[in-house]
Amino acid sequence: MDINTKFNLGDHVYYAESNYEGILTKYCDLCGGSGKLSLVVGGEVQCTECRGSKGVFKGVYLRKPHLNPSKIGRIQATKYDDNPRISYKDEISYMLYATGVGSGTLHKEDELFATKDECQKYCDSFNETVIKDFNKENNLE
Ligand SMILES: [Zn+2]
Repeated sequence: MDINTKFNLGDHVYYAESNYEGILTKYCDLCGGSGKLSLVVGGEVQCTECRGSKGVFKGVYLRKPHLNPSKIGRIQATKYDDNPRISYKDEISYMLYATGVGSGTLHKEDELFATKDECQKYCDSFNETVIKDFNKENNLE
């Protein structure tokens, strides 16, 4: 049986990690998004409505390349019989020392990269789609 993998055991690859980011979706009605209120007698205090947070935040998970490449410790191949009634796709996945080899994260082949630049490009394109959907859902822009 022929199984071709993009990477080999022991290769060092870059992977994307998810980071939670809070995005301001609605400015506070009371302070208008400054997080502060001006006092009649002069000076400012923290807004009593949003407590200085400036408004309503909602979270999204954006991706960025993990700082260092990690060594591949396990490769897993799933092949299906060549039968038109089977709709699953063949899949190659990897486990990295950084995210667990015995148990841990299974990385898809198209989400691992030989260089940080390639990984960054993948993250940029992923994040662009996530932000676009987020903005649409929250009627922003
Ligand atoms: Zn406020």
